[in-house]
Amino acid sequence: MAKKKLFYSTNLKTIPVTFREALLKGIAPDGGLFMPEEIPTLSSDEILSFSQMNYHEIAYSIGKKFLHDQIPDDDLRNITIDAYNYNVPLEHVYENKYVMRLDQGPTASFKDFAARMMGRLMQYYLDKEHRELLILTATSGDTGSAIANAFYGLDNIKVVVLFPETEVTARQRKQMTTLGKNVQIIAIDAKFDDCQTLVKQAFADPKLDYLKLSSANSINIGRLIPQIMYYFYSFAKLRKGSKNDNVIFSVPSGNFGDMMGGLLAKRMGLPVKKFVIATNENDEFPKFVKTGKYEIIVPSKNCISSAMNVGHPSNIARLIALYDGIMDETGFIHKTPDMELIRKEIYSVSINDVETKKMIFDAFNDHKLLLEPHGSVGWAGLMSYLQKNKKDDSPLQLCISLETAHPAKFPEQIREILSFDPELPPSLEGIEDKEESFIKLENNYKVFKEYLKKHY
Ligand SMILES: *Cc1c(COP(=O)(O)O)cnc(C)c1O
Repeated sequence: MAKKKLFYSTNLKTIPVTFREALLKGIAPDGGLFMPEEIPTLSSDEILSFSQMNYHEIAYSIGKKFLHDQIPDDDLRNITIDAYNYNVPLEHVYENKYVMRLDQGPTASFKDFAARMMGRLMQYYLDKEHRELLILTATSGDTGSAIANAFYGLDNIKVVVLFPETEVTARQRKQMTTLGKNVQIIAIDAKFDDCQTLVKQAFADPKLDYLKLSSANSINIGRLIPQIMYYFYSFAKLRKGSKNDNVIFSVPSGNFGDMMGGLLAKRMGLPVKKFVIATNENDEFPKFVKTGKYEIIVPSKNCISSAMNVGHPSNIARLIALYDGIMDETGFIHKTPDMELIRKEIYSVSINDVETKKMIFDAFNDHKLLLEPHGSVGWAGLMSYLQKNKKDDSPLQLCISLETAHPAKFPEQIREILSFDPELPPSLEGIEDKEESFIKLENNYKVFKEYLKKHY
């Protein structure tokens, strides 16, 4: 049999591993992030053929490029069918400008795309090996519900999510606490960082080795590959069909996993003319693109696009690797990447809260386009790019901005800016009336550890 394709660590201090190992490990032993040694490519005919396919078929085709020598085709096909059982609307805004709504999954956030696929990939291996796994994670809101929902009802996997009791909204809490089955939710009387510390202590505790803990966090390679797929999907559906078709994407970014998916799609052959990478006031990346100097922001700034309040995005290490540089997990650059190529392919801009709110107002009044804060940062980024690059601001230029959450997840902001309540998507309907179940623990590692030992 041919040698399997391998995944290397961005720190380059451990030997490359198979997909299975990278998926189940999450983070490399040297603290780096896993990246594919070889980036597969698609011919323009293959990309053209996607225009006739539905989402899960495209997802399967892309997934297969990375995993054909690791997972049997039929299993992979079933995983994509099961993971992607919801719509991916492409909303026309004006001229050839669109918003891709990645908000129709069970938690109405784009994180469903990655988390659902990762969960099923993990289940595939555990099932085959008759093993079990305990996913342990801390959340400040959205990640926890995406993880809990993604693993909900899967065999061989149990989930424990810690959240800071007073720091998540009632709606965010209910998205986790109304599940049950293999999902246990624990409220901690403390802040998010304290929850995170409890989780880290459990991972480092040899007495809990028997639990086979896994974090399923956002840097897992099993979440990166699914974030490549919707870039191909949206281009295939919206292209006009000529050979010279290309597209400008705008991606609202926090930890930069979403953007990494896009950059990989381009390396695989997707004709992306430019990536607009829009951040909120946590502007370490736009500054880096401009100056070549990377300075983390501590503590991170609190903006209304709360899922993007990240002062040191972990996926930047992957971006640097893609452009032939090396950055470690502290943000220190050991080898300078190709800054010229970065600037050619990426336009990055910081959008503050005032601009974010104004764009929610303007987009609705000018185009009947309803955005929530994260999508508004993305759309504002695109408008900024087009204004500064007049030659790309033509009616025919295809531009796609990503909307990463449903407006109904941010009713307070929408009400304040637009004076109405956004309609709930089907996935959130009825959640107010469902029964909640969670336990409360004090912020004390001993207590938490005893709980885990008693119940798992
Ligand atoms: C996580 C998240 C983002 C940021 O995505 P990254 O991949 O971390 O850049 C943007 N919007 C929403 C709604 C999110 O939940």
